[in-house]
Amino acid sequence: NVSVVLFTSDLRLHDHPPLRAALDGSRQVVPMFVRDRAVAAAGFAVPNRLAFLADCLRDLDSGLRERGGRLVVRSGDVVEEVCKVAAEAEADEVHLAADAGAYAQRREERLRRALEAAGVRLHVHETVTTAVDPGRVTPASSDHFSVFTPYFGHWSRQRLRDALTAPQTVRVPDGIGSEEPPSRAGLSGLSPELATGGETEGRARLTAWLRSGIEAYEDRHDDLAGDATSRLSPHLHFGTLSPVELVHRARRAGGPGAEAFVRQLAWRDFNRQVLAVRPAAASVDYRARHDSWRSAPDEVEAWREGRTGYPVVDAAMRQLRHEGWMHNRGRLLTASFLTKTLYVDWRVGARHFLDLLVDGDVANNQLNWQWVAGTGTDTRPNRVLNPVTQAKRYDPEGEYVRRWVPELADVAGPAVHEPWKLPGLDRAALDYPEPIVELAEGRERFLRGRKS
Ligand code: FAD
Repeated sequence: NVSVVLFTSDLRLHDHPPLRAALDGSRQVVPMFVRDRAVAAAGFAVPNRLAFLADCLRDLDSGLRERGGRLVVRSGDVVEEVCKVAAEAEADEVHLAADAGAYAQRREERLRRALEAAGVRLHVHETVTTAVDPGRVTPASSDHFSVFTPYFGHWSRQRLRDALTAPQTVRVPDGIGSEEPPSRAGLSGLSPELATGGETEGRARLTAWLRSGIEAYEDRHDDLAGDATSRLSPHLHFGTLSPVELVHRARRAGGPGAEAFVRQLAWRDFNRQVLAVRPAAASVDYRARHDSWRSAPDEVEAWREGRTGYPVVDAAMRQLRHEGWMHNRGRLLTASFLTKTLYVDWRVGARHFLDLLVDGDVANNQLNWQWVAGTGTDTRPNRVLNPVTQAKRYDPEGEYVRRWVPELADVAGPAVHEPWKLPGLDRAALDYPEPIVELAEGRERFLRGRKS
């Protein structure tokens, strides 16, 4: 008998329960990926993520070839393509990872109906894209946790399944048509320093992180210039690394750094469990605050381009464009600047992030934006981050700012965070804008708007 394994956000061979189940139960397996036209139509297929995805698919294909198999790549409607491949291969089962996103839920439902009509069984496997599945831990009085800390308490007590090794051999039937896996060549508009995708790269990064990064994570994760976070987020988004395996390996590493890191992985699961039961939170306020957001196209443009006149905000926005990634502290303070200081709708910022982030992810991006905007799960929804205070705390020497804002490269030390305070001639020599907004004014406008 033959099984099809549909890869989606789980582009790896290690710790892959659907692939393992298919191999255990079948003589031959068809590992397949569909370049889904609905994802492109929804505006989600942006150059940075397409490039990372191409790396992932090529790496998955070569990993399968080393084991005697190959990846079957198709384009079009995902349900139609899976049904076609199942028919060509005369498969009796299709295996798929569970995914709580609204689109993935619809995809699963459509797939189930179409396969049932064709007499093919669909197996949906849990704990592939999250460490703890959405819905596994719920409070007594509600269908999900709306506050992270109690969620984390329950999450931490869950027993995780063991991580699986990669298969030795994968036998794929002959004669199943496939496209070449896509490549980066021909993609334009990529960030110049975009990370490389693929399981091989992800595993190398993870090993290096466990050896020499995780230990200092608790102390250094907020240090903007130190860049001391794992940068594993795109690998988690595309599933080249398994969250279950990551939690196990981090816990084995042990220590306060590992504990703090595991806590961040739980945030990822937390956001997914919110979105699983409140799918509308991808675009609608999770907690309505009746904000009267401003439309301020020129200020939004200055924010997008990194010329707000607040050096740390501009540095982070330029990092985003240059790398397709931004440090978490940068994400927090740039999002606060847009939604509170400029009082612009969080959806405007979330869209810009999704256009560029290589780890851009509906659950993590939209719910973190809502968290910062105070329409989400933050228990202090009206706090406003002051970018100057933040800069002095998290970039005390100004190195991060000088790295990303070359116009300020000659301003030494923390003075770089407040160029408006430089002596007249020094200030005049800088080709750098004046602040587009007064911080106190922005803060009051936000608090007034929120009350009214
Ligand atoms: P590390 O600090 O090494 O953390 C390890 C992993 O934990 C991350 O890879 C990520 O999977 C998870 N994680 C860490 N922080 C969070 C968090 N706050 N929420 C959920 N998961 C987290 N993360 C995304 O993966 N995709 C997004 O689109 C995204 N958009 C964001 C938008 C805003 C406005 C904010 C404030 C945060 C956003 N984050 C997003 C969360 C966080 O900033 C990134 O996950 C993190 O910066 C990635 O870098 P890292 O892998 O080095 O993280």
